[in-house]
Amino acid sequence: MKHPTDSMLREDRLPHIWCPGCGLGIVMRCYIDALIKSGVPLERHVCVSGIGCTSRIPGYLNMDTYHTTHGRALPFATGMKVANDNLLVSVIAGDGDLFNIGGNHLIHAARRNMDLNVICVNNFNYGMTGGQFSATTPMGRVTATTKKGNIEEPFNIPHVVSSLGASFVSRWTVLHMRQLSKAIGRMMEMKGFNFLEVISPCPPNFGRNNNFPDALSMLEYFRKNCVEDDDADLSGVGISFSGEKIIVGNFIDSEKPPYHEREKSLFARR
Ligand code: SF4
Repeated sequence: MKHPTDSMLREDRLPHIWCPGCGLGIVMRCYIDALIKSGVPLERHVCVSGIGCTSRIPGYLNMDTYHTTHGRALPFATGMKVANDNLLVSVIAGDGDLFNIGGNHLIHAARRNMDLNVICVNNFNYGMTGGQFSATTPMGRVTATTKKGNIEEPFNIPHVVSSLGASFVSRWTVLHMRQLSKAIGRMMEMKGFNFLEVISPCPPNFGRNNNFPDALSMLEYFRKNCVEDDDADLSGVGISFSGEKIIVGNFIDSEKPPYHEREKSLFARR
């Protein structure tokens, strides 16, 4: 029996590569849901990714997608939007891709207010390559390359992206499916650099090393510790997994003229 959204999947690419308990299937499901509800014809949607487990999502979608090089999803997406501003361009990538290898691209895409919808799946490590620490691994947490605990201060993603001027900034976990779909739908309505952090379990790597041996234990942690606060002071929403509350919500929703519109009006004046 077919599911109503099955037509959105490239069935010839299945089965997928994701581990049992990985949150990426939920993220893909929420993206498909928002895309269908957007009412925007599929021909106008494009989905771009870099490299890693998260970046496999566009490869499973039956639409125009680009699986680019590590950290470079944003420059590809930027070029696409500048070349054809009729496109609704989404980027789906992981924390290592967007905040380590592609960190420089991220700050400039946000600074320019490029009209892109960026979904960052944060599982606090490089999952595909064996669980090395990333720029979002909380201090003290164990990964394949921080066996005695990470000594670096991680990025507080919503704070970083909001300080770069993003039009929309949101954070949810994979436990919050309805909120995730709605946030992605809102990004598809809004012009500008729209950013969603999705906190997701990676059971065989970050989870196993940090007392979350299976996906259920991490989802249970989310259920007990997440607090919705749209008005939170974003300087204080970092995540440490040390028993503090995880603040989720739609923190910023403030449309500003995006890069391609400012460019058009500049050339119209000449
Ligand atoms: S390694 Fe982690 S992120 Fe990658 S598929 Fe497995 S659970 Fe998901």
